[in-house]
Amino acid sequence: MAVKKSWTINHACGHTSQADLSDRPADRRAGYARWLTERECADCWRAARGEDTGSKAEWLAKKRADEQTEAEEWSARYRMPPLDGTDRAVAWGTRCRYQLVSAAYAALVLEGTTSEAAWEDIEEAIRPVTRAGWWLDQRDADPADLPELLEAAATSDRPTENPHF
Ligand SMILES: [Zn+2]
Repeated sequence: MAVKKSWTINHACGHTSQADLSDRPADRRAGYARWLTERECADCWRAARGEDTGSKAEWLAKKRADEQTEAEEWSARYRMPPLDGTDRAVAWGTRCRYQLVSAAYAALVLEGTTSEAAWEDIEEAIRPVTRAGWWLDQRDADPADLPELLEAAATSDRPTENPHF
């Protein structure tokens, strides 16, 4: 007698469903059916997930906070001065600077031909650029273009009222 393929599952949520287990090996069906009974039915599962949009926002907020911490630690480690701007622009600009500069280091030094000494010059050029808005403007830039962008910033975006320098 063949092992049955269609199982009636009494879910933990109280609902009953008919599970087609024909795609599972015969000797695994009973175990899987038992596993299903310990869970809520597909509808309840989906409903619970639907309510979860709140936790997705939470997840995003947490991810952003992690990135912020990472960016701030990086700024401290490489002696990058605080940025100028509104609180929101400063937070975002700090992340943009961290991401662009790290990506530029990877592109120019790790994968490119820029020497560590030449990179230190680039870092020196990064420090005076403390206008958060400038970093926000460069967030879609090609990391390899960073030296050229900094050159442009040095001539047109010279910080005039930077209290940190
Ligand atoms: Zn249910």
